[in-house]
Amino acid sequence: MAKTLSPVCKLCRREGEKLYLKGERCFTSKCAFEKRSFAPGQHGKTGSRGGNASRTGQSDFSRQLRAKQKARRIYGVLERQFRRYYETAIARRGLTGLNLLQILESRLDNVVFRLGFASSRSQARMLVTHGHFTVNGRRTDVPSMLLKEGDEIAIRDGSSKLTYFKDLSAVAEKRASPAWLSRDLKKMAGAVSRMPERAEIEGALNEQLIVEYYSRR
Ligand code: SF4
Repeated sequence: MAKTLSPVCKLCRREGEKLYLKGERCFTSKCAFEKRSFAPGQHGKTGSRGGNASRTGQSDFSRQLRAKQKARRIYGVLERQFRRYYETAIARRGLTGLNLLQILESRLDNVVFRLGFASSRSQARMLVTHGHFTVNGRRTDVPSMLLKEGDEIAIRDGSSKLTYFKDLSAVAEKRASPAWLSRDLKKMAGAVSRMPERAEIEGALNEQLIVEYYSRR
């Protein structure tokens, strides 16, 4: 499975903001960004690259690059796949930026996370990879699978007996699920009712800058 190799908390420090990549931990005092918000590396605090202060004078290209990297890191997508998503977004009707975000949101690992069945996208990715979910009744272990309107997600029969899933209903109840997904906590299942609107997608993303980044290359 393709994955980002750097320790995840460093990614937040690199982007100069919390990306919420580690689930519940991100909301506690254990969050590494709360302790050290400067960029990682020996030049993190004072260097010309990556330090937070230096970001105030960013060039257009730098802002576009950072916007793209941030989205990639939030969704845990490698560069090549992210570019493929961008090309798919161009080929679709409508706004390329919104199309791109909808593609990212429709990944199975993201949907599992959004349904509250995992505390982070990386945990959702691991659960999917281990084959704990079905899509439309068929077991799948592909986190990057793109879901469409009407697709149904459920926990595989064999997996629902595991302690994690037995306890999940109470935990998931406390996690909000977006309106574009429907969720049945008794059955521990969900479905894609429709594609998300822009306001329902991660607010801190700047899809326009991402489109500009790829347009100039
Ligand atoms: Fe980022 Fe979460 Fe790590 Fe904090 S705990 S630095 S928000 S991944």
